Parts: sequence; C-alpha cells; structure tokens
Amino acid sequence: MTTAVPPIVPAKTFRCYICKETSTEICIYCTKDTCGLHMCERCKRCTDCCTCYLDQQKRR
Ligand SMILES: [Zn+2]
Ligand SMILES: [Zn+2]
Ligand SMILES: [Zn+2]
Repeated sequence: MTTAVPPIVPAKTFRCYICKETSTEICIYCTKDTCGLHMCERCKRCTDCCTCYLDQQKRR
C-alpha cells in the first residue's frame, strides 16, 4: 500500500506584468511576462519596449 504523492508541478504560464493576465509569451527585449494584448506581434516586444510606432512615424 503505497501512497503516491503527485509532485506539485507549477503551471508553465506567465502573468503579464502590465495587466496580470495569464500569458504564454515573454518580451524578447526585457524578458518580462507579456500577454497578447501587451505583446507587439511585429517585434515580439512588450508595449514598453516596442518601437514599431516610432518606425511608423519616421516613414510617414
Ligand atoms: Zn497585459
Ligand atoms: Zn519589454
Ligand atoms: Zn512592435
């Protein structure tokens, strides 16, 4: 009669450091947890590190 205690495996999910929502990605620049809302699709950076809007301003 062995009682197997299941190991407590922490869920491999992040929490957005901005809105605290669960996220699955991190900013490639500052490596902070970032949800889809605060993750730029183009550069994979959080809204704090994203410079896409700067690029757009330069082009236009
Ligand atoms: Zn967020
Ligand atoms: Zn960032
Ligand atoms: Zn961006």
